[in-house]
Amino acid sequence: MQTFDLIVIGGGPGGYPLAARMARQGKKVAIVDNEAEFGGTCLNWGCIPTKALLASAGNFHLLKHAGEFGLSCADAGFDWAKIIERKNNITLQLRQGIIKMLEKAGVTLFKGIARLYKDRVVKVSGYDEPLHSEKICLAVGSVPAAPAVFPTNRDIFWTSNEALHADAVPESLLVVGGGVIGIELGQVFAEFGCKVCIVEMMPQILPGLDNATAKRLMPVFKKSGMEIMTGKKVDSLCEKNGRALATIDGVEREFAKVLIAVGRRVNMSFMHETDVHIETERGLIKTGSDYQTTEPGVYAIGDAIKGPMLAHKASYDAMILAAQWQGKTVVADYSLVPSCVYTHPEIAWVGQSEDSLKAIGVSYKTGRSLFSANGKALTAGAGDGQIKTLIADDGKLLGAVIWGPEASNIINEATMLAQFGITDHDFSMMIHPHPTLSEAFMEAVENASGSGVHG
Ligand code: NAD
Repeated sequence: MQTFDLIVIGGGPGGYPLAARMARQGKKVAIVDNEAEFGGTCLNWGCIPTKALLASAGNFHLLKHAGEFGLSCADAGFDWAKIIERKNNITLQLRQGIIKMLEKAGVTLFKGIARLYKDRVVKVSGYDEPLHSEKICLAVGSVPAAPAVFPTNRDIFWTSNEALHADAVPESLLVVGGGVIGIELGQVFAEFGCKVCIVEMMPQILPGLDNATAKRLMPVFKKSGMEIMTGKKVDSLCEKNGRALATIDGVEREFAKVLIAVGRRVNMSFMHETDVHIETERGLIKTGSDYQTTEPGVYAIGDAIKGPMLAHKASYDAMILAAQWQGKTVVADYSLVPSCVYTHPEIAWVGQSEDSLKAIGVSYKTGRSLFSANGKALTAGAGDGQIKTLIADDGKLLGAVIWGPEASNIINEATMLAQFGITDHDFSMMIHPHPTLSEAFMEAVENASGSGVHG
């Protein structure tokens, strides 16, 4: 039996930072994942490949609209195989970088599938000798959830995994679920000429986004070529002559492919046919504030436990857990985890929304600014969008929502203000360079108290 101080199961944005941090502190650390999966869902099946495809889609959009910049590009075209190849090369480069970083940090890598047994014993496929450790961390991530009633022929009925490896742009695509995956991937395929129809059963797209912004974005996304239905259900799905037949709110429609994007579930394969029992709660691994599961010495972080299923939340968990193990008195607080949607335009939000503040009866002032009044946005041809800030009576930021250029970067200003309790008055003393998109955020903060120059 090989022994370690820590075995991390899962090499994603939760697992690999934890393994590296602990190894750098002198601990004997092992990490287990499939060779092709280091980097996790984020790098291999989620954030990074989607962003690579969105970048190709965004640039294609610019080519088609070159005339707006005084440029000509008569024959804007694309090569889907090359777009996929570029995406694959990016993920490969990043995956190799993570593996090298872990090796340099002194982490022992096991490339295979881990199974967890009682008393903190781990067996890895392809390795004869079992592993044992004082501590084990489950950083096992999540996999797409597909309702059992939907067909399972993944050539037609895709999850995000198949969509990211599509060998061609389908003529038509039904997207079940108007969450982040549905909207981001829907937009990629729509940009390349696919007829995309998104069906969301809730009254609004993008759960978690404030209702007014979600409504405001409907015409924006429709203009980008997507048909979006809210408050409607896909009653049934079946295969007919190599195509998909869907009944949507009682109406039959046919599509070349279907993307099922109705959420994700915890990857529990580490427990498959083993003698260990780890308790779950509403499908998530139950943990205390010390991240310990119901099995002593076994911890869990990231998508597998409570909190948003986001890569940066998993890395945050890893950072907090490593700090706790160093003896620091810190606990996780998910109230300021930023959410970002990398569509064109981008959307990002953090903290409280108007809906949640109204629900808890907290008073606030609203500040707004429009990108159409921001010089940098207009010169970049990205004047659509706005920033909304929610400021408490004491001048501290409670929340913000941004849709428009670089929303995912600008949101960091909002997170910083809220995290460190900086007041709107103090913030207005900070010099923002001109011309930048970040000036629009400063304006939105100042406008809450009526002190913005442009009003
Ligand atoms: P989601 O939970 O964000 O959205 C799923 C949507 O599907 C919900 O709006 C839900 O109401 C709807 N839905 C469920 N069943 C339905 C049905 N039968 N018919 C119609 N609509 C239905 O899930 P997702 O988009 O699959 O994403 C999964 C996770 O991955 C999320 O936690 C998300 O935050 C994360 N993710 C994040 C990013 C990002 O940060 N940019 C990108 C992709 C995924």
